[in-house]
Parts: sequence; C-alpha cells; structure tokens
Amino acid sequence: MKQSGERYVDIFQTAVESAAYGIVTMDSTGMIGTANPAVARMFGHEAERLVGQNLRMLIPAPFDEEHDRYVANQRDPVLVSIVGTKREVRGVRREGQSFPVELAVSEAATEAGLVFVGILRDITEQKEAEAAIRQRSALLHAVVDTAVDGIITIDASGAIQSANPAVERIFGYRPTELIGQNVRMLMPAPYHQEHDSYLANYLQTGHRKIIGIGRQVSGLRKDGTTFPLDLAVSETATPSGRIFTGVVRDISERLEAIELGLAKEAAERANAAKSEFLSRMSHELRTPLNSVLGFAQLLDMRYDDVEIREAAHSILKAGKHLLNLINEVLDLSGIEAGRLALSLEPIPVASVLEQAIDLLRPLAEGDGIQVVLDMRVDEDALVLADRQRLLQVIINLLANGIKYNRRHGMVEVLCESVGDSVNLKFRDTGAGITPANQAKLFQPFERLGNATVEGTGLGLVLSRRFVELMQGSISLLKSGPDGSVFAVELRRARMRPLEPVTKSRRPGRRERIFAAGRILYIEDNLANLKLLEMTLSKWPHIELIPATYGSTGLEVAESVIPDIILLDLHLPDIGGAEVLQRLRSNPLTAAIPVVVISADATPGQIGHLRDAGAYDYLTKPIDINALLDVLEVLMPRRDPSA
Ligand code: ADP
Repeated sequence: MKQSGERYVDIFQTAVESAAYGIVTMDSTGMIGTANPAVARMFGHEAERLVGQNLRMLIPAPFDEEHDRYVANQRDPVLVSIVGTKREVRGVRREGQSFPVELAVSEAATEAGLVFVGILRDITEQKEAEAAIRQRSALLHAVVDTAVDGIITIDASGAIQSANPAVERIFGYRPTELIGQNVRMLMPAPYHQEHDSYLANYLQTGHRKIIGIGRQVSGLRKDGTTFPLDLAVSETATPSGRIFTGVVRDISERLEAIELGLAKEAAERANAAKSEFLSRMSHELRTPLNSVLGFAQLLDMRYDDVEIREAAHSILKAGKHLLNLINEVLDLSGIEAGRLALSLEPIPVASVLEQAIDLLRPLAEGDGIQVVLDMRVDEDALVLADRQRLLQVIINLLANGIKYNRRHGMVEVLCESVGDSVNLKFRDTGAGITPANQAKLFQPFERLGNATVEGTGLGLVLSRRFVELMQGSISLLKSGPDGSVFAVELRRARMRPLEPVTKSRRPGRRERIFAAGRILYIEDNLANLKLLEMTLSKWPHIELIPATYGSTGLEVAESVIPDIILLDLHLPDIGGAEVLQRLRSNPLTAAIPVVVISADATPGQIGHLRDAGAYDYLTKPIDINALLDVLEVLMPRRDPSA
C-alpha cells in the first residue's frame, strides 16, 4: 500500500496523462518542464522530446518573440494579465502548421522556483464551426434584408423582435420604432383590439386562425392609411421561447390590377351587349323599311302618273332619311366601341373629290348651286385614307355646303398641299354659322335650328371621327354672313395605290336585258318575296323560286340547281350563315353564286359572310337597282341573235 500522499500524486499524474486538454509546465527560463500526451498529440511532438526544450517551439512567429519578452521580464504587465485568465492564442504543429488554441495559464511557486502551468485546448474545429455559423447568419441576414416581403418576428407576448427593411418600406416605420412594440400597432381596427386575445387564445388552446395558414388581412401604415396585405405566419420554438415569424406582402397593386381587369371585362361585356343590341336594332328597323323603300321604288318605276310618283318620292325621301339615320348611328356607335376599323391606304384624293362632286351634282343643280373644284395639287396626289370613309366625309361637307347655301350660290372645293399634308377647304356662300352655334358644331344631333333642311345632325360628328382615324383633322376655319369655310387636313401618302376602286353606278331607269334563268330566294318575309316577284315580273323568262325555310331552300337548291341563290340570314329554322356553309360544302351546289340580302348591316357580319364564300352582300332595305346590277353580272345575258 502506498502512502496517501503518494497515492494522491499517482491519481493526479494519471489524470494529467489521460486528460483531453493539453497540460504543459514551464519554468521561469521558458523551458518546458512537463508536457502531457494531449500536448504531444496536439503539436505532433513526442512528449519526452518536449521536456527541456524552450516553449517557444510551440508558438508560431511572430508570437514567439513576444513569448521571449514575457519570460525575460516576468513582471511584464501583459504576462501578469495572462496569468489566471483564459484566452485564445496560436500554436504551431511540428509540420509548421499554425492553429488556434485556447490557453489558461496559472503560476505556482515550487521549491524549484516559479512554475507556469498552461492548459491548452485545440479549438480548430470550434473556430471552423463558428465561422460556418457566422457565414450562414450573414447569408440569412442578406436574404432577410433584401427580401421584397416584410419579415417580422414577435415573441409570445406579441412584442416585435425584429423587422427587415421591407417592413419599413411597407409600413413607413423605422425598424427602431418597431422593436419591442406590440405588433398590433401595424393592424387597423378590429384586428388591433383582437390580436392580444387571439394570441393568448392560441397559446392556450392551440386553435389557429392564421398561424401556419396565411391569409389576406389589412395593414395600418404609420401615416394612418390602411392597405390589403398577404400575411403568412410560422411558429418556431427557440431556447428563449416561442417566436412567430410573419411574412407580409403589400398586395394593393395586385388587387388594383385585378379590379382593373374585372372592370375591363365588364366594359367589354357591356360593349359586346351593345354591339348585339345594335345588330338587332339594325335588323328590326331595316326589315319594315325594306318594304317601305322597296315598294316605293316599284311605284316610281312602274307608274307615270305624277301624283303616284310624287307620293312614291315622298316615301322614298322619308325612308332614305330614316335609313341614313340608322346607318350613321351604327357607324358612330361602331367607332365608339372601337369596332369600326378603317383600312388606311394611299388614295388619290382627286378621284374621290370628283366622285363626290359627281354624286352630289343633282342635289346642287336642284338648288341652282355651282360646285367648283380648284385642284392645286398633282392630279395623282395621294393621301392616307380609307377610300369609302373619305368619300363619306367629303360628301357630307359638300352636301352641307349645298344644303345650307342660298339659291344660286356657290360651293368651292380647294385642294392644296401644305408640308406633309393635303388640305381640303370647302367654301360656301351660305348665311354662315353664328358664334354661339359654332360652339355646338361637331356634337351629335345638333341641327342648329336648321330643322327645315333635311339632315340627321350626325354628319359632322362622324366626319370628325373618321378623319381622326385617318390621322387627320377637321375644323370650321371661318364663318360669317358671306358663308363658311370648313377645312380638312389629311396626311400625304407617297406610295402608289394598288388598285383604284371606283364603282361606276348605272343610271336607274335603263333597259336591262336578262336571258332565261332561275333564281332561288330563301326568305321568310312575304313582303320581300312579293317585292322581288313584282320587280322580276318584267322579265317573265326569269323564274323566281321562293323558299321560306332554310331546309327547304337547301333541298330546292340541290334539285333545281338555280343560277343564283338570294339568301336572307334570319330564317325560322336554320340560320342563313349555316345555309351558306352547307351550300358551299355540297359539291352539287358549291358553284352557285350566293348573294346575301340581310338587314344585319354591321361591318363585322358583312366581312364574316364574305369570308364564308358569299358572292355579295346587299343590305336591306333593298336598293332595287343595286340588286339588278348584281343580277346582271351573275345571270346569263340574253343572246341578241337568239
Ligand atoms: P346635318 O347636316 O345632317 O344636320 P351635320 O352634322 O353635317 O348634320 O351638321 C350639323 C349642323 O351644322 C347642321 O344641321 C347645320 O345647322 C350646321 N351646318 C353644317 N354645315 C354648315 C354650313 N356649311 N353652313 C351652315 N351651317 C352648317
């Protein structure tokens, strides 16, 4: 049995040798007295070799010199401060690699003098782990700081622990104004009042409304305004208690965009309904007009009795006025709904002016008015325009100059080139428009007290819309007791037109010659059938076959193979569009020209049926001469020698 003192030393020695920490002693000259195996492992030396060596061999440059200094002056304040404390220093392994070491130094007075004891721990791994944590946390901070969404954390009492910069942008508070405050400050009533009890209730019962779910709520900005936001809340348990993280996103703009989209959709639906309504109205109004104008034309053609013809003219005049009104209202609403697309092309302005003057010559001559055209541009000068609509504008201004003129007055049309424009001036010798009335020009249905003169009050409004769609302008240049000047500015075009489209109108009471032939008329309105029957009765060798149903029309077409099919669109059984499609897809009937005659005169419908293979599209009320023109083209002509 060993003495207890010896045993104590034994135990102590064993403890030192098996310690995980390095333990090294040094005498006052800096020499290593003892080093345990942990020191040897740590530095890569053999323990026995260390004893008697200067301890500086374990210290890398430049710290080794410092060590020499301390040893030389043991009362050095730095050395004094090291003793009894724990600090981080650097060690050097045998292969020369330096590494971080945690060092605690104590001193002991022994019989052999002062001895310093160092306890060492290799903290390489700990340092690496710390660096990794620091890097992760820097990354996390960068993500949170640059996030577009606001990120707020609160503790279980509702106190804000952190808020990223996006929160400042969204709510208008600086993060320092938020930290430590209750999160309800960011909520308007009633959430403001309810939040505390909601949180308490959740903590007690686990009953959740938002946590882990997310929903749309209202936010309260620092300036007192409220706004919609998406909120997602998650919960985390931390050593210091539960933390709730709220991710908030201001969705005002998104909601506005959605609302805008809905409003646009509603407007588009309303527009579609309006178009539908107009198309129906157009049909409903034109159908009776069809009979009125059709039979009036027949009376005018058939009878030479002055009274009958005068009556027929009155009917035609009133009917045409109504038709104009319908057409103009349709055009106007078409423009407003953005449905009326113009096809802009380089158009020779002279030919349009000449055509308009030709068309209005009878009107001018009726009032003894002289129309003069003063062309001061090349005969083939081009303007950017939709030919049909430009003609409509010019006719309207010219007709106004004639209608609102004095008897035997004059209308002068001047066409000149100014820069990149072609300007048209319409000068009349009428009574002029008073300044008060000038302000009302270009407004729908404003007749300016001219009720006795025929008109709709829509011509100028439409003209302005059309000219603007052609990237031009229209205005009243001046007006006084000597007359008025209206000006139209059009954009000059440089390219040549592909093909001038002038349709020459044939005179009305001309002898027409038809060969024998068969016309199938698919139409359910008996007045229209009667009108055509009476019209064609002049040519007994033309057989008119009526069909009042789409289905019977198809059967007759297949068995008879007529020369022409006239097709109404509103039939009691199948729609005219489908009849057309079936006729085109049946090899027996595919080649027969189909002329659609319908009261639905919207441009979309006309284009649609032309695309579907209709040869022509005539609108009701039927212009008998226009119909005869088409028949003349499509029916075989009578061979005069036969
Ligand atoms: P409408 O001729 O069908 O009535 P407009 O829109 O073309 O429709 O013209 C609107 C009104 O402006 C006319 O009713 C008329 O009172 C007046 N007006 C138009 N042009 C002239 C003109 N050259 N001279 C006098 N008044 C005019």
